[in-house]
Amino acid sequence: MARYTDSVCKLCQRCEQKLMLKGSRCLTPKCAVERRRRATGGHRRRRVSDRGLQLTEKQKARYSYGILERQFRRTFAQSERQLGITGENLQVLLERRLDNVVYRLGFADSRSQARQLVQHGHILLNGSKTDISSCLVKEGDTISWKESSTKTEYYKQLLESIQAKSVASWLSLDRQNLVGRALSLPTPEEIGATFDSKVIVEYYSR
Ligand code: SF4
Repeated sequence: MARYTDSVCKLCQRCEQKLMLKGSRCLTPKCAVERRRRATGGHRRRRVSDRGLQLTEKQKARYSYGILERQFRRTFAQSERQLGITGENLQVLLERRLDNVVYRLGFADSRSQARQLVQHGHILLNGSKTDISSCLVKEGDTISWKESSTKTEYYKQLLESIQAKSVASWLSLDRQNLVGRALSLPTPEEIGATFDSKVIVEYYSR
């Protein structure tokens, strides 16, 4: 299946919002959204219909988690089948993806980097290798590193840099051994989504 290969900054520009897709670069003045804001003085250049706004919210969620359309639809359908509020279920399902958890633990600077770590087999879920970045982390699951991956330069540098990083409140991290654990499932408050999931529900209900 084709993946998006153009500059990810264009995705942020399309949504007119910082989606933090490039790790630490997003916090610098080089950020393309910041540069455009400085150039335009923060003014929107176009009027957007309600449908357009709904589409943008959906795309924001999809781009943020790096998910293709078909997979996003499947996740949305799953959130509809669950008990509770569909928009909140969607947020939680997205947040429980293994690549996102690896990112939230601070093992990677961005979700795309986290996805690479998973797909290249560096990460163990409950002690077993899994290269499926979309698999869902459950309460009590542990996320650790494959033995041979702990010998890499990346891991050694991470051991130093991770000491200063914060970890999502629904996760715990053993910073000496880089072993993470899901203390619970995330709540919408803990996720702090950068998109409006209610608007996404409206988008799919038409
Ligand atoms: Fe988006 Fe980051 Fe690029 Fe800024 S630097 S436009 S936040 S991906």
